[in-house]
Amino acid sequence: MTSNSQKLRYFRQRIPAFACVPGCHDCCGPVTTSSEEMARLPVKSEAEHEAALEDLRCPHLGDKGCQVYAERPLICRLFGTTPRLACPNGQRPAEMIDPKLERQIMRFFKETRQVLV
Ligand code: SF4
Ligand code: SF4
Repeated sequence: MTSNSQKLRYFRQRIPAFACVPGCHDCCGPVTTSSEEMARLPVKSEAEHEAALEDLRCPHLGDKGCQVYAERPLICRLFGTTPRLACPNGQRPAEMIDPKLERQIMRFFKETRQVLV
């Protein structure tokens, strides 16, 4: 049986990478993630969470962009790689995500309890 951590590693390795518009973070906002991924992110206080949510932003977005890039949640990695989550600024990988992999990730979202980052 495959553990969530193995699935995460598998997904992370296979989601196609692409370059964003430098300095852009237009697609960052309140996102949800699995408890497993949440545990890898730095803990934010309740006040920080509330302030971020009030402004509809992610608590890990800093002046210079994502502060947790190496551990950013799957949904952040998926954004821009599928027509269903297309980049509003026209950026995309050379090849969009394999539809089978996208389905596997969608199933993972459904099967894991998702919490607000
Ligand atoms: S995917 Fe698009 S909207 Fe999101 S940060 Fe990259 S360039 Fe900006
Ligand atoms: S974790 Fe990083 S990439 Fe994802 S929404 Fe927050 S700031 Fe943006």
